[in-house]
Amino acid sequence: MTRPTRALLKWDNLRHNYRKAREATRHEAYAVIKSDGYGHGMLACANALSGEADGFAVACVDEALTLRQAGIRQPILVLEGAYDPEEWTLASKYHLQLAVHHPQQLKDKAEADLSDEVAVWLKVSSGMNRLGVKLEDAPEMMARIRNDNDLILRHVMSHFATSDEADTGFYQQQIATMTEHAWPVPLSLSNSASVIRGGIEQERVLRPGIMLYGSSPCEDISAAEAGLKPVMTLQSALISTHTVKAGETVGYGCAWTAPRDSRIGVVAIGYGDGYPRHASSGTPVNVAGQRCELVGRVSMDMITVDVTDVPEAVIGSPVELWGELVSIDEVAGLANTISYELFCRLTKRVPRVNL
Ligand code: PLP
Repeated sequence: MTRPTRALLKWDNLRHNYRKAREATRHEAYAVIKSDGYGHGMLACANALSGEADGFAVACVDEALTLRQAGIRQPILVLEGAYDPEEWTLASKYHLQLAVHHPQQLKDKAEADLSDEVAVWLKVSSGMNRLGVKLEDAPEMMARIRNDNDLILRHVMSHFATSDEADTGFYQQQIATMTEHAWPVPLSLSNSASVIRGGIEQERVLRPGIMLYGSSPCEDISAAEAGLKPVMTLQSALISTHTVKAGETVGYGCAWTAPRDSRIGVVAIGYGDGYPRHASSGTPVNVAGQRCELVGRVSMDMITVDVTDVPEAVIGSPVELWGELVSIDEVAGLANTISYELFCRLTKRVPRVNL
């Protein structure tokens, strides 16, 4: 018997979530599939969406080249590339679109050997203050781009710092900053949280990421409420069961003490697979169709679960860590992190199974 731990991937749900983004706003959408498709497999995501995505967004030129070399022909936006002349040359050769967020990138371009024009998106910082030119510097940057025969200014973009928060004050301020300005090209503003909040009428192109994978970043709107379906189901099985008496402890550090005589199930998953080491006792784990709770510390290859109230739980019983029955957003919250990190940290040891 091989280890029962695997990540099942439902590509129909990726397509469903992509359509949700487009239907909610009626805008175009570049699917953000950077960092190996948020851990789901970048190429698999691109192939699953190749019939319908308006474009893809990735973090760096290397990721974009991987897509091109695999035959992906849609527009590709590189969010954080163009840091040397060679990247400009590659962008021109492989028809990559580049986010321009700093004047240094244009200096590098001047030294590049371009075979064709490069479409660029000017990234403006409207409050995130990470990447992006300041609002007051945007007119000069736009003029430089538009006067350069090698470049086509395709969009002006900005990124939100707090669109996931229930208090939308700062988010609204960023929207106002961007939409009260007259831009010569269409805007691209929305990430997933902004799409889930209904998008922004004045923009043309969305950039949804995490929602495509079925997770809601919004603290006040769940994935189910947003009509999203999980793409990944992380599952395993019980490899042992045993009983402990009230007052006995379980696992490393004797970190959990049984409050009553309890039956413990041991699951073949741990932080060596990417299950979060900091998931706290009480984190939901579905065993044999019933919601149970993680108890004690997460080990490298195993976790322990209280299955006292699930008499049908036996060695071999199916376990879901997140997916259809257990929300990854709930698990992430109890591990003091976000779904993005849990997805990205799933390790190579976990076989991916396409459904
Ligand atoms: N746009 C930009 C510039 C990003 O950096 C990201 C992700 O980090 C996204 C869009 C997608 O964000 P989300 O996954 O929250 O939808």
